[in-house]
Parts: sequence; C-alpha cells; structure tokens
Amino acid sequence: MSDHTEHDLLRELFPETARELFGDAHIPRETLGLYPVADGRLALISGAQLAEFTPIDPKGNKALHCDLCHYTRSRSEAALYRVVVGARRSRYLTLCIATESCQQRAGKEGVRGLAERIFPIESPYVE
Ligand SMILES: [Zn+2]
Repeated sequence: MSDHTEHDLLRELFPETARELFGDAHIPRETLGLYPVADGRLALISGAQLAEFTPIDPKGNKALHCDLCHYTRSRSEAALYRVVVGARRSRYLTLCIATESCQQRAGKEGVRGLAERIFPIESPYVE
C-alpha cells in the first residue's frame, strides 16, 4: 500500500481545491470522482491516483458524445479533454462540462469504469 494518499496528492497539486472539497478534515478512503480544478481542468481521483484532464478546443461544430454519461451534448455542454497518461502518451476524452450531473447520470460504476481506462498512469509529474 502506498502511504501517499489522495489527500496528499490533492493538497500538493491543488491545495485550494483540497481545502474547498475536504476542509482540513478527514478524507473518506474510497475517494473516486472527478473534481473541477483551476482553469476548467478536471482532476480524476481514484484512491491514491490522480489524473489531470485539460480541456482542449475540438475542431468543427459537431455535437459531442460524452464518454462518461454517454449523452450527446452540444458544444457548449461538453468539452474535449486531454489526459496525460505517460511521458509521451495522452488520451482524449469527451466529458460534460457540468461534471457533477454527468457523474450522477453515469453512476459510481461509470466513474469507476472511466478510472479503469485511465489508470494506472506513468508518473507524468516526474521529469
Ligand atoms: Zn456526461
């Protein structure tokens, strides 16, 4: 088991968000979910693992299909996100911008499935 918890990760990478989400109190062990962080980015947390989703501007004007809740969304309701999963590897996912309701539609199993597609990642934060 790692002694580096999601709590530590969040505090390290997004101290403001960690304070907002969890205060200074105890964090549930079963942390799983997407959390909005700065600049429209999302942080996917699964246990002690963390991936950062950075929004990029998709080309064209087509409707977007959310990879989490599987709804078809308009361009204003969803965004294409880039996830760095390794030193030179990225994944691209379309997700609803309103991530809370998206995760509710997808359910815990949907979010877990998404996490399984992303993790494990090679430490992208280490050069
Ligand atoms: Zn969605």
